[in-house]
Amino acid sequence: MSTCISCGRKVTPEEKAVKMTCPNCGGVTIWRCEKCRLFGRTYRCPACGFTGP
Ligand SMILES: [Zn+2]
Ligand SMILES: [Zn+2]
Repeated sequence: MSTCISCGRKVTPEEKAVKMTCPNCGGVTIWRCEKCRLFGRTYRCPACGFTGP
């Protein structure tokens, strides 16, 4: 199961979580849960340290 990159919560298939790759290095798959997306929480790529909204 995937975890949200911003809050570390488990992402369930039912919620509208978004999956994307890091725009900087492209090597990491980033999951963000519905809430973090809603509140515009930032994420940090564990591979390159890139932060983004
Ligand atoms: Zn989250
Ligand atoms: Zn990255």
